[in-house]
Amino acid sequence: MKQRDLLYEGKAKSVYRTEKKGRLIVRFRHDITAFDGGKKDVLQDKGSYNARVSAFFFKYLEKHGVKTHFVSMLDDRTMVVRELTMIPLEVIVRNVAAGSIVRNYPFKEGTKLDPPVIVIDYKDDSRHDPMLNDDIITALKLCTQGELKKVKAVALKVNDLLAGLLAEQDITLVDFKMEFGRQGKTIYLGDEISMDSMRLWDKKTGESLDKDVYRFDKGDVMATYNRVAKRIIE
Ligand code: 5GP
Repeated sequence: MKQRDLLYEGKAKSVYRTEKKGRLIVRFRHDITAFDGGKKDVLQDKGSYNARVSAFFFKYLEKHGVKTHFVSMLDDRTMVVRELTMIPLEVIVRNVAAGSIVRNYPFKEGTKLDPPVIVIDYKDDSRHDPMLNDDIITALKLCTQGELKKVKAVALKVNDLLAGLLAEQDITLVDFKMEFGRQGKTIYLGDEISMDSMRLWDKKTGESLDKDVYRFDKGDVMATYNRVAKRIIE
């Protein structure tokens, strides 16, 4: 697979065309950002931890019947993916109250959310990713009602699969964010699922094993990513 011109540069990944129709290359960079890009750093090897964990999750999900954009890895931080038309939604599933749901609503941090709560934000940094509802999503024509139903069903299935997998490593999947795209009428899980897009707590100690370590200066970010990647993959 040959890398061609740059198609899109996000805050932590760059997307390139390839010589093959319908296939793109995603390079996970070592940049880390938080608070809509308000806090930024470059951390050696961060891209490879996230790419490897994402690839591991995508393969596991595919094996269990979830359609993802993952095709293969070219090197430890470079993924070949199916080209999708992305839907500008951030689909968040929450199993435990933390982060913005605690800031914005009267939930106590650490409260179990059963059944899990789905929150959908509009992917638009300039508007600070405001929360949507079904009517706004359809009024803005971000996706059809049928697609939205499918997205929510897949999100809950992914949550069940990953929460179960992580529990085996004594890790609580507190919450995580997914992005979806379409190819024709088919919806695929896209983007990444990594320590940058999940909130993971050690079941025994309650310690954060994710980007909250960076957001809130809780410790050595790369040492945490290294340890959690090993726990998940090995
Ligand atoms: P919160 O709404 O509490 O800030 O985030 C909920 C979950 O979704 C967290 O696991 C967080 O990492 C993830 N998340 C929310 N927005 C974004 C985003 O814009 N980028 C990434 N990478 N993750 C996000």
